[in-house]
Amino acid sequence: LVAPDAIFGKGRPNSQGFDLSDPAVLAHIDAARDVALPDAAPITVSVATGETVAVLNPATGEVVAQVLEADAKTAVQAIADARIWDAAPAERAAVLRRAADLYEDNFGPIFAALAREAGKTVPDAVGELREAVDFLRYYATEGENVDRAPRGAVVAISPWNFPLAIFTGQIAAALMAGNAVLAKPAEQTPVIAAIAVRLLHEAGVPAASLQLLPGQGTSVGAALTSDARVKGVVFTGSTDTARIIARAMAANMEPGTPLIAETGGLNAMIVDSTALPEQAVRDVVNSAFRSAGQRCSALRCLYVQEDIAPHLIEMIKGAMDELRVGNPWSVTTDVGPVIDAEAQDGIRAYLSQKRGRVAYALKAPEGGHFIAPTMLTVNGIDDLEREIFGPVLHVATFAAGEIPAVVDAINARGYGLTFGLHTRIDARVQEVSEAIHAGNIYVNRNQIGAVVGSQPFGGEGLSGTGPKAGGPLYLQRFYAPASAGAAP
Ligand code: GLU
Repeated sequence: LVAPDAIFGKGRPNSQGFDLSDPAVLAHIDAARDVALPDAAPITVSVATGETVAVLNPATGEVVAQVLEADAKTAVQAIADARIWDAAPAERAAVLRRAADLYEDNFGPIFAALAREAGKTVPDAVGELREAVDFLRYYATEGENVDRAPRGAVVAISPWNFPLAIFTGQIAAALMAGNAVLAKPAEQTPVIAAIAVRLLHEAGVPAASLQLLPGQGTSVGAALTSDARVKGVVFTGSTDTARIIARAMAANMEPGTPLIAETGGLNAMIVDSTALPEQAVRDVVNSAFRSAGQRCSALRCLYVQEDIAPHLIEMIKGAMDELRVGNPWSVTTDVGPVIDAEAQDGIRAYLSQKRGRVAYALKAPEGGHFIAPTMLTVNGIDDLEREIFGPVLHVATFAAGEIPAVVDAINARGYGLTFGLHTRIDARVQEVSEAIHAGNIYVNRNQIGAVVGSQPFGGEGLSGTGPKAGGPLYLQRFYAPASAGAAP
């Protein structure tokens, strides 16, 4: 089954461009539905031990595969077996480019895993595959002429919300710099990680330079992040987990061992009364509800200027009515399930606690881990207790002249990932962009879906350490500091 170039914009420099109205594209997506998912297991140099557990489909609760989860002993052995990738930068770049081609050629198993293991909708699955491919090609190009020494063994801990793209981005950067990678995928998404690692090995990455350790954070993750032989950790996930990792690293590793963390957010958008309502509404709904709100970049708290608020909120309700929530395999689905029962229970508990604040809510389909897109009314961002990682939008209003106070309130929360602004006043764009603390600022557009190479992605404050993924500074962190033995 060979994908028509139209699906992927194959070989294009970034993730834009695929046509879901093309019947040939749809036929190929349909065929991918039946691709069987392989079981997952550690991919290590030595024999792995651990326990086998079931991998579940978030949309149906069905078992889609089994995974042998590594134990801490396997992780410790993998660190001993790890070898830096001793090849010329140009050769490493060629291997990563070959891996990018293999990803594109293997869209069937990749789509099947993204949909059945991670609950991705079709547009999200296509976008994710494109982004993964972009990371491989981008870091290959960034590093092919760089002659510097790697750090050594680098641990990569990735999230379930981008089980291919972020997983691949972390690994591609670490490998491009010549490090030995120990990859720990999220517990929920080991199958897609195993598919990716097999393709990277097939492309030519040496087995001892890339080992896969599916397993629990409390055992495998803890073993990997508290071992003195590890020379760097790259992590995407919650702020709380980043703190645990930072403490373990500080207690056990050489001082100065880098932690590159991309964590949570309480992302806001301001819409003033000069905004174009149709455009603002479309961008609000996409930012808050696409990917079932399971992006770190997703909009959590919308501020609307009070004179347009009643009208805009009515329009948001209308746009929410157009959303189709359900089976991620249907091309017309906009909102798929949340990742698992625990996520669903947590969001449901939050929503039932906030019952009195519901301005509008859709209905969730029966069965599976679905959450109905919901809009809650709040006084401001201070009413958000924590990041709710699902399709829940909070809406507040502000009066003319209050924008500086709104910006202060947003900044005071300490996060700084994405921020959106809808206005047609140029001076306001300037002022607010300068005052807001956010890694990614989006003006008059949605605030999700940063593009590798053109919109480096990452936050500040509680949202992450930088450097931004998919940007020119990222790869540099994966080389040993010049004073520590780089080739002259
Ligand atoms: N890069 C993604 C975006 O721009 C978000 C990544 C994440 O959720 O961690 O939407």
